[in-house]
Amino acid sequence: MDTRKLRINGKRLRSTLEEMAKIGGTPGGGVTRLALSDEDKRARDLFVKWLEELDLKITIDEMGNIFGRRAGRNNDLPPVMTGSHIDSQPKGGRFDGILGVMGALEVMRTLHENKIETEHPVVIVDWTNEEGSRFAPAMVASGVWAGALKQDWAYARTDINGKKQVEELERIGYKGTAPAKKWPVHAYFEYHIEQGPILEREKKTIGAPKGILCLHWYDIYLEGEANQVGPTPMEGRHDALCAAAEMILKVNELPGRMGGNMVATVGEIQNYPNSRNIIPDKVHFTVDIRSWDDGLAIKAWDLVKKDFQNIAGRRGCPIRIEETWRVEHAPFDEKLVQMVMDSAGELGYSYLHMVSGAGHDASYMNQICPTAMIFAPSIGGRSHVEVENTTWEDCEAGGNVLLQCVLKTAGAAQ
Ligand SMILES: [Zn+2]
Repeated sequence: MDTRKLRINGKRLRSTLEEMAKIGGTPGGGVTRLALSDEDKRARDLFVKWLEELDLKITIDEMGNIFGRRAGRNNDLPPVMTGSHIDSQPKGGRFDGILGVMGALEVMRTLHENKIETEHPVVIVDWTNEEGSRFAPAMVASGVWAGALKQDWAYARTDINGKKQVEELERIGYKGTAPAKKWPVHAYFEYHIEQGPILEREKKTIGAPKGILCLHWYDIYLEGEANQVGPTPMEGRHDALCAAAEMILKVNELPGRMGGNMVATVGEIQNYPNSRNIIPDKVHFTVDIRSWDDGLAIKAWDLVKKDFQNIAGRRGCPIRIEETWRVEHAPFDEKLVQMVMDSAGELGYSYLHMVSGAGHDASYMNQICPTAMIFAPSIGGRSHVEVENTTWEDCEAGGNVLLQCVLKTAGAAQ
């Protein structure tokens, strides 16, 4: 058959997404499916059941990554791989990550029911803990798999209750036996929602990012002196939360000071003892800096780090800074990015060449094989929130682009 005419089943894609959205579903219409939680386990179990129905060879590695391999005509060739993540943010959306896994599943189902043969094998993947909100950092399991992060270090990362990542992997039964170690991959495609407002604003159906911004994470720990707020005069206080407040505004001003393409955010803070009548003596907050220009991001950090030290010195609040995580900006494979745009054009969808501000497992995959992403528009540009939404038509369109890209790279007979 002419595989250029092949299309995914949009209704079926919708129903798998709706079924997944029930697992960890929130009253506000989103999902809470934190990495390695009971909800993550239930979603994984359902995913594996769906893979079994397609007679895929299922492998679970030591990081809990789930792979489903569909044989090709020549199984000595490296496979084409596609997938994303099943975990979510707390009160996150029902499309982030899961669209790329269910979209890839829909592609596999389409290949299966049409008995399509490909030269290369095709592998579907669910990467463990992409979000990094329960166990920092994000994209940890694709990072270990790609050889960029150490497995022992990843295992030892703890959540807010002190539970180790490896213990939770074992508890939910997804600490597999296959080594979490890269093997040759012919091409990697990740289908994902845009998580920003640009496609909607430009009225385009498909986004073809030229790459992903660099991503730098820092953790700041401040110490102050606790005391009763009433009798303690204002002068001479060592208020760790006030020091943090000044620092947070410095982070917010940073992109404006640096110029160029950059965003900087403090998204998480813990204040201790967090009582209205005690001067705070311990604060932890995070800093996230992203840019297409790695050097600019590092310069910005050096600048704001000096500000932090000055503020800490002036307020008498000792500071400890942890440089938690750095991922370089990832320029994707130009040929594959072009293929995403060409496929969108052939299918009659409008498309846009753009940049991804969000980090994805594709960042690490890009370090080991030709990589590209396919974006679907986010309504209102909202993501990591319960109102996150994408139309079913757009979900289907992105799935069709993914199908065509997989067929082309895996070498389907026409
Ligand atoms: Zn995601």
